[in-house]
Amino acid sequence: MKWWGWGDPHHRAELPSAAVDALRDELGVRPEDASEPVELAQVSMPDARPVPAAVEEAAGEVLGSLEDRVRRAAGRSYPDLVRLRSGKLDSAPDAVLRPADAGRVAATIAACAEEGVAVVPYGGGTSVVGGLDAVTGEHESVVSLDLSLLRKVDLDPVSLTARLGPGLTGPQAEEALGALGVTLGHFPQSFEEATIGGFAATRSAGQASSGYGRFDDLVTAIELTAPEGRMRTLDIPHTAAGPALREVVLGSEGTLGVITDVSCRVRPAPELRIYEGWMAADFAHGREIIRDLAQRHEMPDVLRLSDEEETRVSLELAGTEGLAKRALETYLSLRRRRGGCLVICGWEGERDSVRRRRSLGQAHLQRGGAVPLGSRAGRSWERGRYQGPYLRDELMDLGVMVETLETAHTWSRLDELYRAVGSALRGALGERSIVMCHLSHAYADGASLYFTFFTRARPGEQLDQWRAAKTAACEAIVATRGTITHHHAVGRDHAPYMPAEVGEIGIEALTAVKERLDPAGIMNPGKLLPL
Ligand SMILES: Cc1cc2nc3c(=O)[nH]c(=O)nc-3n(C[C@H](O)[C@H](O)[C@H](O)COP(=O)(O)OP(=O)(O)OC[C@H]3O[C@@H](n4cnc5c(N)ncnc54)[C@H](O)[C@@H]3O)c2cc1C
Repeated sequence: MKWWGWGDPHHRAELPSAAVDALRDELGVRPEDASEPVELAQVSMPDARPVPAAVEEAAGEVLGSLEDRVRRAAGRSYPDLVRLRSGKLDSAPDAVLRPADAGRVAATIAACAEEGVAVVPYGGGTSVVGGLDAVTGEHESVVSLDLSLLRKVDLDPVSLTARLGPGLTGPQAEEALGALGVTLGHFPQSFEEATIGGFAATRSAGQASSGYGRFDDLVTAIELTAPEGRMRTLDIPHTAAGPALREVVLGSEGTLGVITDVSCRVRPAPELRIYEGWMAADFAHGREIIRDLAQRHEMPDVLRLSDEEETRVSLELAGTEGLAKRALETYLSLRRRRGGCLVICGWEGERDSVRRRRSLGQAHLQRGGAVPLGSRAGRSWERGRYQGPYLRDELMDLGVMVETLETAHTWSRLDELYRAVGSALRGALGERSIVMCHLSHAYADGASLYFTFFTRARPGEQLDQWRAAKTAACEAIVATRGTITHHHAVGRDHAPYMPAEVGEIGIEALTAVKERLDPAGIMNPGKLLPL
């Protein structure tokens, strides 16, 4: 991953020049707003404090170069990228420890507890909620615990479960499982970089969650290596033995210990994958179609609905201009459709099952008034499914602020939440902004809303602009009683909203669990629970 941005350093997202001009014009972005990331050698951050020898010895491998520390100093939210690109890091781990196995992890955190060193577990570094910030808490120093060497893959082909090491990235896990004829089916937009341990620690949700389930649905057993000992749940399909400890570990965001082993349900690799586009009359009609599909339990494996604004901007950024745009408009007008909202549906699995489920889904879409756009639109979505973060780097080069946030609510209050968050963001960002949304991760009782917003990044004021927008959106979510996060997790950015999410006694209960597993409070201070 680029130290200052996203993904493969040799890959750039192509932006059609007409779309760039239109966007600049709409947001009031000027040529002089363009900015490049500084050189790595120019990055300034606090000097590294010494890490006790006992900690280094327990870990086995210690990395301490400028680049090693910079790479683990931040996640990939907009403010993270602003700090990295400007080369001004106000915190960084004092050292990076890379244990070779779970035994080393246990020894390392025991030594850290003994010596009073804070530990930030590090997976793929894609947190967008400040989950990797090098906070010392009450301690003298802080280390990043890089789990990339824990990459075991062990398939039980009879039960169709796999034990996976936390350090496997999405592609590494899929490649190893694919060679054994199975898939996990977990494809978040951060797939290329994020890890199994990170998915579990943040309760991640992938683009095919309607079919395969969110990551926490896939987990059958989990191992937590905490400062006070190792805790592993049984490899069993289900249990009635009290509240599930698996659930306590899922979403613990490194605050209780390190997830050192995850057992997941896998499925036979799909024989067929078909993605296609539809155009719903508007967001409200599209939402009703998705609710209907979810409540009949007939959802495609991939299902997302863009609102009018996201549909417009996606078509522009995909280069749907000139002839292609006119052809699309003509096609839609023949079907008496002006504008509308893009729906992407994807079916995966055995040929017969795909055929049967697809024809059921298509019938519902048609009944709901959606117009088919065919598999070309689906293929175009598939090609671009991991391009968003590359595009963000390009837009930031131009001087555009780009950020996303997400939430969820029941169907009966989803529209209220949509309007509240949208208007909070528009209010904070001002008129020359774009606020767009898509609905994804649908359930019988509700769905998640994912907002993306653009505005001109005012040089030197980007962090204040971001804070104003983020605070306004979070307050709107809390006021509407939606969740502060459906799948990005809590980290440091959402921790102040946890009392609203779980209540004061809920915070005390979580704190009590933490005190039992991590009495010295070394594990990821300041994340999940407010300091
Ligand atoms: C461009 C982009 C797109 C994204 N798209 C999605 C998406 O579609 N769906 C989604 O759910 N999320 C998405 N995210 C958010 C992010 O990718 C997820 O939260 C992901 O699960 C984090 O995994 P990671 O391995 O990168 O973890 P990291 O970022 O390294 O860590 C995340 C948190 O988990 C803790 N942690 C990591 N590994 C462990 C471990 N083994 N044990 C204990 N704690 C651990 C860390 O301390 C940190 O608090 C996106 C992020 C970006 C930047």
